[in-house]
Formats: sequence, C-alpha cells, structure tokens
Amino acid sequence: MAEKLKIIPLGGLGEVGKNLTVYEYKEDIIVVDCGLGFPDGEMYGVDVVIPNVSYLSRNIEKIRAIILTHGHEDHIGALPYLLQDINAPIFATALTAALLKGKLEEHHLAKIADIRLMETGVSFKAGCFGIEPIHVNHSIPGAVALAITTPVGVVVHTGDFKIDVTPIKSEMIDLTRFGELGKKGVLLMLSDSTNAENSGFSHSERIVGKRLAELFENCKSRIIVTTFSSNVQRIQQVIEVAARYGRKVGITGRSMENMIKVATEMGSIDIPPDTIVEMAKLRNYPRDQIAVITTGSQGEAMSALFRMAFSEHKFIDISTGDRVVISASAVPGNEKTVSRLINLLLSRGAEVLYRSVDDELHVSGHACQEELKMLIALVKPRFFMPIHGEQRHLRTHAALAHSMGIEPNCTVIGDIGRIVEVTKKSIKLGGTVQSGRVLVDGTGIGDVGSVVLRDRQHLAQDGMLVVVLSLNSEDNSLLSGPDIISRGFVYVKDSGSLIDEMKSLVVDTLEGCSLNNITDWATIKTSIKTALSSFLYKTTKRSPMILPVIMEI
Ligand SMILES: [Zn+2]
Ligand SMILES: [Zn+2]
Repeated sequence: MAEKLKIIPLGGLGEVGKNLTVYEYKEDIIVVDCGLGFPDGEMYGVDVVIPNVSYLSRNIEKIRAIILTHGHEDHIGALPYLLQDINAPIFATALTAALLKGKLEEHHLAKIADIRLMETGVSFKAGCFGIEPIHVNHSIPGAVALAITTPVGVVVHTGDFKIDVTPIKSEMIDLTRFGELGKKGVLLMLSDSTNAENSGFSHSERIVGKRLAELFENCKSRIIVTTFSSNVQRIQQVIEVAARYGRKVGITGRSMENMIKVATEMGSIDIPPDTIVEMAKLRNYPRDQIAVITTGSQGEAMSALFRMAFSEHKFIDISTGDRVVISASAVPGNEKTVSRLINLLLSRGAEVLYRSVDDELHVSGHACQEELKMLIALVKPRFFMPIHGEQRHLRTHAALAHSMGIEPNCTVIGDIGRIVEVTKKSIKLGGTVQSGRVLVDGTGIGDVGSVVLRDRQHLAQDGMLVVVLSLNSEDNSLLSGPDIISRGFVYVKDSGSLIDEMKSLVVDTLEGCSLNNITDWATIKTSIKTALSSFLYKTTKRSPMILPVIMEI
C-alpha cells in the first residue's frame, strides 16, 4: 500500500485563531505556524488559548522544522509555550524572526530557540520535505505562502494572503510563481478562508493612505490615529501623510513602540527624517502640527488610547476638537469594547472616524472571493482544503472551489485533530489524534480546565455563599454558627431577613439529620447544600455556589 501524507490541523479550523498544521510523512514531521487564540467572553480570567500539542510532544523525534508564514499572533503566539517542550529549528522570514525573538525574550526562551532565516524563492529541506516560501500580500510585511514538495506531490499552503496590486513598500504577491507551480502540477492547496464570504476583491492598502491624506489636509486640530500595531504598512502610511502635512508624530503604546522599533531595524518601514518626536516633546508644537499613532484599536482597557480618553495618559488628554481615526476593524468578539471606546471619545468632545461610518479607513489583509478563485485558477490543485476559518468560511470556500471545477470528492473540510490522508490519487479524512485547546491564565498553562472554568462561570453568574458552623464531634450538636458569608450573591447587610431564614433552615436541616441518624459530615454538608439551594431558587430564582464549611471544636 502506498504511503500517505498525513495533514493534521491542531488549530485554525472551525475558528479564527491558533493556527497550527502538522505535515507528516513516515518518519518526518514539519509544523506550519503555531498561533494562539483569544478567550471568548465565557472564559473568565483566561489570558490566551493555545492548541493542545500532545501529538507533537509524543512525536518529538520526528519533528524536522517549524515554519512560520508570518508574524501575526494567531500564527506565532503559541511558540513560547510549544518551545518549553519541543525544540526544533524554526524557519521564518526576517521580520517574523525579529518579532519572534522579542516574544521569546519575554519568556526567557531566546537562548534555546534555533531560529533560521528563510527567503522567498530559496528552497530548503526539512526531512523528506522541500519547502519554498513564496511572497504574498497581507496586513504585515514578510508574509509567505509555502510550496511544500512531499513524496506524494506538491502541496501549496497559502498562509494568510490577499492580492494587492499596489502594496506599500513591497512587491505584489508573486502570482507568477503560483502559476508556474500550477503548470508543473500541484497535488493539493490549503487556502485562507477568512474572507470567503466576501464577494469581489479586497481593497488595496493604498486606498487607506488616500483617505488618511484627505483627513490630514486642512485639519486644524490634533490627529490621533490608532491601528493594529502589526500593520506596518498602515503605520508607514500614517507617518508619510503626517510628514507631508507638516506634522510631528508621537508613538505611544508598548506594542506600537516595539513594532516600529523592530520594523525600522529590519528595514520594513521608512520613516522620513525628523518626523517622529518623543511624546513628551509634542507639547512644544501647535495642535495642527501634532499627530499621534497609538495602540487601542480594539478598545482594550489598558491601551494608550483608552487611557487618553480617561485622562490617564501621561502626555495626551483627549479634548474637544481632537480628530481620532480608528484605522482598523473590530476583531469578532471585540465589537463591544470598540463601541465603548468610540462613545467615550465622543463624550470627551473628540471627532471620531471609524470604519462603520467610513469604510476607507481600513482594508482587510485577507483575500475575497475573486482573489481566492484567481489563486485556485493559477495553482490548479488536484485537491483542495480550505483552512483558517470558521465552518461557514470553510464551507463557502469549498463551494467556491467546486464552482471552479474541483470535484466535491477532491475537497475536504478538516477538523482540529482529524487526520487528512493524502496520496497521489486520493484525499480523505482519517482517524483522530489528541487535540483541543489549552487555556493559559497567568503563568499557569493548562491548569484551568473545564471544571475550573465551569466554577468561574457559575461564580460570575450567581455568586457564592459560604455557610460556616462548628459541631461537637461527639454528638454533632451545634456549637457555633451557622454564619453566612456572601460574595457576589447578595449584600449581607441589606439582606438580614433572607440571611436569617437561611440560618434557621440550616438549623432545621441539622436537626433533620440528627433525627435520621445521619452523622457523617459529608452527608450533612450535602443536605445543607440541597436545602439551601432549593430554598434560594424558590425565593430568589438564583443558584449561587454554596459551600458548607463544618468546623470541629
Ligand atoms: Zn495574519
Ligand atoms: Zn491568521
């Protein structure tokens, strides 16, 4: 029987985030991307979500390389966690490598990581795989697709991409190379599905520059622009426009300052001389000569823009007349926080421009339908697998492929942990490997599991009630208490009668236990819990977490 190429997504399917795809052939594994995801509103206290990589931990000796398509968090963010167990050579283009180094330094892992630079058009080997990075357009410089030569055929893994015929400070996506590969024969393409539901073409990054110029021209007030700190091309355009209209630019927000520093060192951004000034010196200039680039495009509560709106920023206080430009879209899940920030800025008297009132303030970094189809037409893969998207995006993308003549049985919709088996002649879903999500809270990796999460949800919704009493260990008679402590359920001082009723119910329950010769404390605790919880549900329609504590005297 012919050996199969196994493709195992450990994240990034049925979700947008934590992209990680495993390619395995006999004794060799390569990993493409290792990203993180952000918690949803129900994951109280969870900072980030990373893919479960136990499959990789069990196959450490097979891993030949980790290859990064670009420097976004959903593609590199989980590496610091992965590297604690798995140390394989990491291949990345220059900017991605620089961003990764910064991230690893924060985790004190920079010394152990073996980071190697890769360049577009220069192939390298990793086990039985040959890898060629191909230049693509995206919302961060240094993004590549990968042409992976495997023993069963060539696989094109697009990474995140769009087609921008007029990009900023870089070339257009290397469509020629995709076409050449297509002519030689590509077995399978895995392609970015983020914008599969959007018809037409994505707009060029350049239209944002044009719009920004209009907003800077003849503006008499301070201009404050926020965008994703990774969107180097956007930052470049803001700085250029500011310089053109005679403004000095201040940079604020840790990730923004860091990104501009790294991008400058790597030559990914060109800053006109004498444009950037320290934030502290901005006050020496009149308002119509000031521009600020800041973090906070997602309405993050600790971000520089948020602090400016709350008069908590060291150098800038938003005031009447300021023009605030939000050059970004709200990432799904962040709509509320962004809306809160917009309202806050407006209430401070600022003029706020954002995408839903001005759609030229931001363009997506992901290909829309016509671009996706164009890539399928150029690459002409025999098999097709949509990646990087929720079910709806994956399904729509698969339907697009069908409309381009790829047979339904030549397309697979994968799932996290599900093996996709590929031979020269077939593609199909196989078995599963251990997979899932690992929650990171502070320095704890994976110690917040479903039980802890359920408790946190319970506590957040209904609060907690602690019932403390002391019993005589000989005859279980009540020596002191019951005392009732409430946190997040009711305010004890204002709920005297309810608390009294609960106390007498506890006393009755204890008597009931003693009448029925129930003496073990575990059962007594359960009885107290049951009695209180049905009483509270009847009287308040709430179900707080109830913790009986029995002390022995
Ligand atoms: Zn990306
Ligand atoms: Zn992505």
